[in-house]
Amino acid sequence: MLPDFVSPQADLAPYNTLALPARAGFLARIHSVEQLATLMRHPEFAGRPRFVLGGGSNLILAGDFPGFVLNMRIPGKRWLGEDADCVYLAAAAGESWSDFVDWTLASGWPGLENLVGIPGTAGAAPIQNIGAYGAEISEFLHRIVALDMARDGKTRAFTARDCAFDYRDSIFKREGWHLSGRYVITEVVFRLPKAWRARAAYGEIGAELARRGIQNPAPAELAQIVTALRAQKLPDPRALPNAGSFFQNPKVPARFAAALQSAHPSLPCYPQPDGSVKLAAAWLIEQTGWKGRNLGAVGMHEQQALVLVNRGGASYHDVLNLSRAVREAVFARFGVSLIPEPVTLAAPSRAVVAPEK
Ligand code: NAP
Repeated sequence: MLPDFVSPQADLAPYNTLALPARAGFLARIHSVEQLATLMRHPEFAGRPRFVLGGGSNLILAGDFPGFVLNMRIPGKRWLGEDADCVYLAAAAGESWSDFVDWTLASGWPGLENLVGIPGTAGAAPIQNIGAYGAEISEFLHRIVALDMARDGKTRAFTARDCAFDYRDSIFKREGWHLSGRYVITEVVFRLPKAWRARAAYGEIGAELARRGIQNPAPAELAQIVTALRAQKLPDPRALPNAGSFFQNPKVPARFAAALQSAHPSLPCYPQPDGSVKLAAAWLIEQTGWKGRNLGAVGMHEQQALVLVNRGGASYHDVLNLSRAVREAVFARFGVSLIPEPVTLAAPSRAVVAPEK
């Protein structure tokens, strides 16, 4: 008999913010570390494919998944302690990231204000090193606690260095551990410096501060500005299903960027510490005319060209067709290959990879 927190043949449509239709062979709603251990001992679990699901906000469902989907719902956020420099705070994997940030700010522990409002769970946040408006969670990460589901079921702690963070990347993503269910993140510990400094260099934040006549913003003011900027551009998935940024912002060699910029003087270019140059994918898409255009039941959003939206009843094939059309248009015009950002969950025979790399 299956444990009572596991449902067979479960509908996954409510579990992905793009609202694509699919079923899971088994859906396990995980509310505690003990439930993970119970699952590991269960004969149905052994040898079946598995996938760890947080908020489903960065996910494309390519069809039915015959194995176990582990929906991480472990709740809890707590103050762990402090030293002379920092305060240490823990978020259990199932906490909403956005609620966690709100709680830190309301409790008087600033630092995460530029990351307010990002959808998804705290447990999923380090996997792609979520970042926004000039901050990334890797800067604040102290420790990740994860369960080794593929071997001995023991917990392991990862330091920030172990995670080998990069732009929207970590060892969890690079090694595919989030897809294979190798390590299941159960808790994330943050370290917020007591010496707070405002991060206001990001163009849109600076402009909004100037417009409001604020010179030395407080954390709550920055959080308010970020929330307002997000609301202006990013559609709420509850009203218009989407998976956030659908393409990564491409990094290209500096010489290539310089040549592109001389042909397109208004192209936004952001030099990176590694010598490459980051381009704004939304700008490239807008230039091809895809901003606000639909194909089938999906479209690129009218306010933010980087967001692919489900206009109602979309299928995986609709998503694939539009993704291809946009990528081809950008490549034809600029010679730049866009790479989708969300993870694609496909049946194991078709491998679980990011689409069309
Ligand atoms: P945006 O502000 O239109 O910026 C587009 C691109 O330009 C991004 O690659 C951004 O880099 C870069 N950029 C803009 N100003 C910059 C500056 N002063 N210095 C360096 N790079 C700069 O982006 P958006 O789509 O509206 O999104 C707003 C923020 O939310 C961005 O930071 C974006 O990365 C973030 N976001 C993150 C996720 C995620 O973590 N999965 C999803 C959606 C949006 P950065 O990406 O480095 O900021």
